[in-house]
Amino acid sequence: MTETFDLSALKQSLDAAPDHKNLKPLGLQTIYLGRDALTVLPDVVAAMVDATPALGPVAVLSDSTPKRYHAGDLLSFVTGCIDARHRVRNVTVGVAGHTVHADEETLAKAIRDCDGAACLVAVGSGTVSDIGKAVAAAQGIGYIIVQTANSVNGYADDRSVLLINGVKRTIPTRWADVLIVDTDVLVKAPVEMNVSGFADLIATFTAPADWYLATLLGMDDSYSPTVVGLARNQGSALLEAAPLVPQADPNALEQVAKTLTLSGISMGIAGTTAPCSGMEHAVSHLLEMATTKAGNETALHGAQVGVTTIVAALLWQRVLGEIADGGLSRVRVPGPAESQAAVLAAFHTVDPSGAMGAECWRDYERKLARWAHASERIELAKRDWPTHEGTLRHLLATPQSLVAALQSAGAPLRFADLEPSVNEADARWAVANCHLMRERFSIADMANFLGIWDDDLVDELIADAAALGSSR
Ligand SMILES: [Zn+2]
Repeated sequence: MTETFDLSALKQSLDAAPDHKNLKPLGLQTIYLGRDALTVLPDVVAAMVDATPALGPVAVLSDSTPKRYHAGDLLSFVTGCIDARHRVRNVTVGVAGHTVHADEETLAKAIRDCDGAACLVAVGSGTVSDIGKAVAAAQGIGYIIVQTANSVNGYADDRSVLLINGVKRTIPTRWADVLIVDTDVLVKAPVEMNVSGFADLIATFTAPADWYLATLLGMDDSYSPTVVGLARNQGSALLEAAPLVPQADPNALEQVAKTLTLSGISMGIAGTTAPCSGMEHAVSHLLEMATTKAGNETALHGAQVGVTTIVAALLWQRVLGEIADGGLSRVRVPGPAESQAAVLAAFHTVDPSGAMGAECWRDYERKLARWAHASERIELAKRDWPTHEGTLRHLLATPQSLVAALQSAGAPLRFADLEPSVNEADARWAVANCHLMRERFSIADMANFLGIWDDDLVDELIADAAALGSSR
């Protein structure tokens, strides 16, 4: 097996980092990444079963989407590996032919179905492995993830993206103990899923800037250059791999898998998804919430994030221009009543019951309260703004270079290119209201507090992003 991931070396380098005291422990015990990585599965499961007093079966969690491995079926292979030595209980989530959603009902059923299991093995992409994290946490059992595609970066962190009251929320659950990424599984995964994971990583060129700015202005306390460096240091190798991703080149897929894993770990050790999830993810979450509520299929998460990252990068350019023009002297603090009305109105269009709006307001209210005390930090930031701007520009990439990177991997560039495509009205709604969904401070909040976030700016950003995507 090709060993492409040395977790103990990474743990050592994190322990030696100057800001190691701010980092959370890395809970993953082992990562097997490379060709024939799955050959370790029987021994890994046996060791986990031996370590638990529970006598129950090994639960194998999956959805009904067929997944291939060499010439056969992956789930049958995994089940066959395990049932030679242990009883297996297959647990299936979701409905055949439909995307699985990690909502309250699906999760509660999966937890019940895993009652009494000795340990849990998830065979699936992001949503299945996220459900698995929540199930393993609830049942207090060991957890192994068999990653089935390079679709997202969420395999290697300790959080699950769950639908709470119809709102996408990232909830602390637990790390997997073991992550197995077999190149031969990735090679057989649908091309668009592997491309989607590459596109998800493009957020590495906007989200850390959101995080830095939030910490600078006292809206967050957690920024860490060590954490940001984990995935960013893979940048040039990742871009080199990009054109080979759609061809399912094994080395390119291993490079993307490695970067996704580092990206996941960066969120886990930061104790927040902020290093990988800024404005671009909030826009994507809103699009997913709207389509899910309407009962429609959503575009792949990463592919959508690639498109929304271009919008975020364009907004960053505007905001840096505004601040260079003295914008920080013109910041404002919106009143709670005005803000609450804005949040409730924004989500009423998608969920007239008001549950979604109330869920979002609970989070947004905390952000607003924090902003009310930001004036001292804003004054400090103003004094040394050229240095901060230099750091921010280093963290960012130009919208043009992001479009070029996405295009080289064959990823969608525009809302209209997504599958299913996102229409202009939905794109406008999601961009315009992305800052209202959660507590995290993003570049859209900055634009709002600078007083420049209006319908005209949203329309311009969407038009500019579409033009960039069309000109390639
Ligand atoms: Zn993502």
